[in-house]
Amino acid sequence: MQKKRTKIVCTIGPASEKKSTLEKMMRAGMDVARLNFSHGTYDNHAALIKNIRSVAKKLDKTVAIMQDLQGPRIRVGEIPKDGIELIRKEKIILIPQAWMGRKDIPKVARPVPLGYATLHKYLKPHDHILINDGLIDFRVDLIIDGIIYGTVIKPGIVFTHKGINIPGVEISARPLTDKDKEDLKFGLKQGVDYVAMSFVKNANNIKTLKSLIPKNSQIKVLAKIETKQAVENFDQILKETDGIMIARGDLGIELPPSKVPLLQKEFVKKCMTAAKPVIVATQMLDSMMINPRPTRAEVSDVANAVIDHTDAVMLSGESASGKYPVDSVKMMNRILKKTEASVFDDVPAHYLKMQGYTIADSISMTVNELVHENNAKAIIVNSISGRTARMIARHRPETRLIVLTDDTVTQRQMALVWSAEAYLLPVCKNLDEMIKKSVALCKRKELVKKGDIVIFATGQPLSKTQNMNLTKVQVI
Ligand code: PEP
Repeated sequence: MQKKRTKIVCTIGPASEKKSTLEKMMRAGMDVARLNFSHGTYDNHAALIKNIRSVAKKLDKTVAIMQDLQGPRIRVGEIPKDGIELIRKEKIILIPQAWMGRKDIPKVARPVPLGYATLHKYLKPHDHILINDGLIDFRVDLIIDGIIYGTVIKPGIVFTHKGINIPGVEISARPLTDKDKEDLKFGLKQGVDYVAMSFVKNANNIKTLKSLIPKNSQIKVLAKIETKQAVENFDQILKETDGIMIARGDLGIELPPSKVPLLQKEFVKKCMTAAKPVIVATQMLDSMMINPRPTRAEVSDVANAVIDHTDAVMLSGESASGKYPVDSVKMMNRILKKTEASVFDDVPAHYLKMQGYTIADSISMTVNELVHENNAKAIIVNSISGRTARMIARHRPETRLIVLTDDTVTQRQMALVWSAEAYLLPVCKNLDEMIKKSVALCKRKELVKKGDIVIFATGQPLSKTQNMNLTKVQVI
C-alpha cells in the first residue's frame, strides 16, 4: 500500500511526552506535534520541544511543532483535586475565584469558583452555562451583586480549569490575552513552526496576531474556527490566515452540533481553493481515551474527513492524556491509508471553483493533469516558501508529492500539507543543475527509479519565491 497522504496532528501531553512514546507515535505516522498552551509551564514546553526535535532527528523524520494559544477561554476556577459533584436540580452559586471564602457570600447554596471575574455582566436569567465540553449544563436563575444563582440541569463532576461555553452570549474578551502574547514570545524564541489562535472572531484578530510576529520570522498562523462569529467571517479570516483548524469541540457547543459536518465540508473546500492547509480536529477517536478500539462511528468520521479532502486530522485527548496514544495514531494511520486507496477521496478535475487564474494557478492544474495523462510516479516541486507545493497539493494529485527546498522551516511546515514529503536541497545556480541534483537526490533516497516518469514544477528565476511558472515531464 502507498504512503499515507493525509497528515496526523497529535496533541502532546502527559500520556505522550516521554521520548520513547514520541518515538512510537512518530513511527506510527505522527506528522505534527501540537502543544496546548492551556496547560504546562515554559520549562515543560521547552523540554518537550527539545525531545520532539531530537526524536525526529534520530528517526530522520520531518515533524512540525504547533503552538496552540489558550485564548480568552472562560474557565472554572481552582477546585479540590477530586472535583465537585453537581447533582441534578441542585441550586448552586457561581462566584469569582477571589471571592471564595469571603464571609459575606450568602450560604444559600454551594459555591463554584469562576476563573472569569466579570462573567455575570454578560448573563441574564435562562442563559445556560455549559461546563466541560457541554457535559454539565447549569441554568442561570438570577444574578444579584455579581453572584450567579442557578440550577444544575445536567449533572456531573466539575474539575479545576474546565472550559465554559455560553451559547448565544457574546463575551467581550480580547481574543489575544496577555498570557497569549507572552506565550507567543516563548514560541517564537523556540522556533515553533505554526501558532494556532483560539476563539478567533474576525480577520482583524489574525492581523493583530501577525503584527506581533517579527518580519524575519517564518512562523505560520492557523485560525481555530470555534465561534459563531468566526463561521460568519470565515472568508475574510481565510484571506488573512495561513491555515485553518476546524475546532469542532467548541464549534459544536457554540452552534448546534448538527451544523458542524456541513461546515466542515464547506471550510475544507475553501481552504483547498486558497491553497492553505486545513485540520479537522477533536473527538476523532475519542473513545480510545479509555478503550483500545474506536467506535465504528469514529472510524467513519476519520474516513469522511479524508473524503472531504482535509490536509490533516487531529488527535486531542486521545494522544495527550488517553490510555492508548500510540494505538490511536496507528488506528488513524490505518483508516487514512485504507480510505486514500479508494476512489472516494479522489478529487474530480475542476472540483475547485477558482476565480481568475494566475500563471501559478494554471501550472498547478496542468501538473495535476500531466500526472493523470502520463501515469507519473512523482511530482517534484522546488519550493522556497512552500507556496508552490501547497498550490499543487490542493488538487490532491494521485501520486507522491516530493518537495525540495533549501529552507528547514519550509521543510517542517510541509509536514501539515496533504501528501507533501519535503527534503533539503541546497540552492542551485540554474535550472539544469536543479533538475540534475533533484533527480540525484530522489534516486538516492529511493523515491524514484530509472524509467519513472516524473513531473517537475518550479519557478524561474529560481531565487524568486511564489513564482511557479514552469513545468517539465521527464523520464528518469
Ligand atoms: C476544539 O474546541 O475543538 C479545540 C481544538 O480547541 P481546544 O482543544 O483548544 O479547546
